[in-house]
Amino acid sequence: HSGGQNGRRVLLKLSGEAFGGGHVGIDPKVVRRIASEIAAAVRQGVQVAIVVGGGNFFRGAQLQQAGIDRSRGDYMGMLGTVMNCLALQDFLEQEGQATRVQSAIHMTQVAEPYIPLKAIRHLEKGRVVIFGAGAGMPYFSTDTVSIQRALEIHCDEVLMGKNGVDGVYTADPNKDPEARMFTKLSYNRALVDNLAVMDASALSMARDNAMNIRVFGLEGAGNVTAALTGQPLGTLVGA
Ligand code: UDP
Repeated sequence: HSGGQNGRRVLLKLSGEAFGGGHVGIDPKVVRRIASEIAAAVRQGVQVAIVVGGGNFFRGAQLQQAGIDRSRGDYMGMLGTVMNCLALQDFLEQEGQATRVQSAIHMTQVAEPYIPLKAIRHLEKGRVVIFGAGAGMPYFSTDTVSIQRALEIHCDEVLMGKNGVDGVYTADPNKDPEARMFTKLSYNRALVDNLAVMDASALSMARDNAMNIRVFGLEGAGNVTAALTGQPLGTLVGA
C-alpha cells in the first residue's frame, strides 16, 4: 500500500471499557487523552484506522443473561460502539484532526457506510477512519472485526489497546504474583493455552492470514502514540 511518510498504516482497536473509565458511558478525560495521542501519531505520518468496542454500554452476551434475545442484544452492543465512535471523532476534531466514521450498520446522518476503498482514500489523505457497529453482524466481536478490517484495508499490524492490562501474561497478573508478560507469543500458543486477551475467532483469523497483533496497555501516558508509531510495547502475537 502507499502508506504514510514512514509507510506505516495500522489498525488500532480501542476497548469500550477504556472509554467508560470503568463506568457506563463516556469518560471525557480518557477519550480526550487517547484522541490527542492519536493525533500526535498522525502528525508523525502514521495512517491510523480505528475499531472501537462497546463494552462500556452493552455486551450482547450480558444482555442475554438479562433475558434479551442474543441477536437483539448484539445489535444493542453494536449501536453502543457507534456512540463511542462519535465521542472519539469529536475529540479528534477538537485536536484539529480530520476524521471519518464508517458504520457497518447504515445510519447515514451520523456515519458513512463502510466502504473499504473510501476508507483507504481517507487514510491516504491523513484522515483518521473510525469503524463503528463492528461487523454489523451478531455473534461477532469488535476484536474479530479489527483483524478483518486490518486485512481488508491492508494495515501493517493490529494494535489492541487494553484497559487494566499491558500485555499478554502467563497467568492473570492481578491474581498471580508469579505471572510474567510475554514480549512475543505465537498464535498457536495463545490459542491452545487460552492466553488470549482477545477471542479465538480473532486470533485464528489473524493466524490464518499472518496479521501481527500487538497487545498493549492504553493507560500509561504516551502509550497510544508509542504503539501507533511502532514502539515495541506489550506483547507481539505473531507466527
Ligand atoms: N457486537 C456484535 N457484532 C460485532 C461487534 C460487536 O454483535 O461485529 C456486539 C456484541 O454484543 C459485543 C458488543 O457489540 O459484546 C460490544 O463489542 P465488544 O464486546 O467487542 O466491545 P469491547 O469488549 O471491545 O468493549
